[in-house]
Amino acid sequence: MLTAIIEDGKSISLLDDEVRKYIHEWRNDYKFFCSACGSKLVVKLGAKRIWHFAHETTSYCEAQAEGESDYHLTGKKQLYEYFISKGYDATLEPYLHNLKQRPDILLQRKNSIAVEFQCATVPRTRIIERTRGYQTAHIRPLWILGEKRLKRISASLFRIPTFDWTFLFPYQREPTLLYYCPHSYHLLILSHITPFSSQTTLAHLSIKPLQTKTDNSIPFKQEKSIYQLWLLEKKKWRSRAGMFHSPLQHRFATLLYEQGIHLSYLPAEVGVPIPSLYMIETSAMMWQAWIWLTFIKPLPLGSVIHLNKVIDQFKRALQSGLFKVRQLPMYPTTHYSIAIKEYLELLTRLSYLQKKNECIFQKIQAFNQCNNIEQAFHYDQEVMGKINKLNNNVSTF
Ligand SMILES: [Zn+2]
Repeated sequence: MLTAIIEDGKSISLLDDEVRKYIHEWRNDYKFFCSACGSKLVVKLGAKRIWHFAHETTSYCEAQAEGESDYHLTGKKQLYEYFISKGYDATLEPYLHNLKQRPDILLQRKNSIAVEFQCATVPRTRIIERTRGYQTAHIRPLWILGEKRLKRISASLFRIPTFDWTFLFPYQREPTLLYYCPHSYHLLILSHITPFSSQTTLAHLSIKPLQTKTDNSIPFKQEKSIYQLWLLEKKKWRSRAGMFHSPLQHRFATLLYEQGIHLSYLPAEVGVPIPSLYMIETSAMMWQAWIWLTFIKPLPLGSVIHLNKVIDQFKRALQSGLFKVRQLPMYPTTHYSIAIKEYLELLTRLSYLQKKNECIFQKIQAFNQCNNIEQAFHYDQEVMGKINKLNNNVSTF
């Protein structure tokens, strides 16, 4: 912690010049207490680490259940100083009695914002509880992750662990994650987050240096568009699908095999990007293949598909452990059924289905059959080209 309560009930901050000047004397004259649990704190004024307070005993503190690394303390200090420099009414580590929570920084605006710099992995339930706590108090949580958590595979390809997905939030209507690096003073903005699988995610990265005067972020050099990257990932997926299987892929491979279909030769219309892909953890290749196999492929042309039936069966597949959806506390009203509907709507725009009403779709064209991998690559390119064209008119994809 960077703040403590002294005996007269006043809060002091180690970022305050006056406090820094006298703290060596004060440590002999005063006792310091935690604003949350009230237990005694010791002040650490070493040369190696940033000056901070720590609980004297290892007693459990609800507001400080995780240790604070120097990385975390430094980042918190810099972010606080940044908000102050921008003229925000910012408070460092205020203890919110009604919530029993202590955000790293609280910004008072028309609506309050609780800024949390999260560096360590803790049980996800704790993050969900803290987020909900803020939401019920009408405080907007702004989670910023430690930059060292970000695993880059290439300029636009990332590995986002399950824990980090918990912090996904809508920024300018795009699913976004924020990271901060206290070494470089860089805020990293990961936007257009499009998971290809549970392991690989395509996204745009831009960087905002907090020390410069300009408020603009600089887009990180994109080697390829998300559309091109998706095609490349799909090509890799097809090439590898025959070689090794995750337990889920194995279940699917068996399911497909019974119908005489090889995993690598799934139609190009299966495994396509849609805006709400982030809601479902299972790869698009798998859940879209399941929709095709269960609801579209067996139907003769002209038959209808009921959206509610698809959603209902998907729910059962979830309960049986076939699929996984993401827990996204910053999207309290979203539901995986939106992603399912988007997929059927995309197939409508690609002229495979016709929308009869909000809940009924009619099959009007069968998917292209792939007989070998070269043909599959070719169809992928064709279908992705069409999707890209459709989306260029309406969105940023
Ligand atoms: Zn405490």
